[in-house]
Amino acid sequence: MVNLVPMKKTIFFIIAISGMYFGYSQKNKIDLTYIDNASGLGPDIQKGFAKIVHTVYPELLKDFNPDARKDITIFIDTDYDGVAYANDGRVTVSSKWLTSHPEDLDLMTHEIMHIIQAYPPHSGPGWLTEGIADYVRYKYGLDNDMAGWSLTPFNPKQHYTNSYRITARFLAWITQNYDKDLVKKMDARLREKQYSENLWKEYTGKTLDQLWEEYSKNPVLS
Ligand SMILES: [Zn+2]
Repeated sequence: MVNLVPMKKTIFFIIAISGMYFGYSQKNKIDLTYIDNASGLGPDIQKGFAKIVHTVYPELLKDFNPDARKDITIFIDTDYDGVAYANDGRVTVSSKWLTSHPEDLDLMTHEIMHIIQAYPPHSGPGWLTEGIADYVRYKYGLDNDMAGWSLTPFNPKQHYTNSYRITARFLAWITQNYDKDLVKKMDARLREKQYSENLWKEYTGKTLDQLWEEYSKNPVLS
């Protein structure tokens, strides 16, 4: 026979814990709409994206831009031949890409950072916008290893304007060697339309080109 007293206690405990969790998640609640018009993708993709939106996005709100929008739409596009893009709170993802790369869920981490960025037009160089989004994927991604995704190893033919993972690695190096908050600061200035190349010198004491030269000579990440 089951002893009911401890069971009641256990049930009460579970309710209390879930109430605490519910209270917490309400505070960080993101309104997610998921649209998939018969792409044929399995439920794991939707679950994986939802997990990223509900766990990573609140962290990005807190760390970068608490005023960013709290409603996100994910649209699985069966006609799109690229990978993914974000526009006006909506992330469009290619079903073809997901069919061939079902493990690449952290592309969503990159895309939702664009929603956080919300830079006004012409606020700064595109290579930096994309470099920041990939830096965020590197720092906040839930399972980049599963996707076989990592920062591009340094080689001397690169330049910081190469964007994406090449710029992201450079940003990671600067945060390790000069200012751990550099990406947060740059992101804020871009959103305020206050970016200028002088900021690199202001935050690190070195110009952008001096930083790149130094990085080229010793591009070690810890
Ligand atoms: Zn991007």
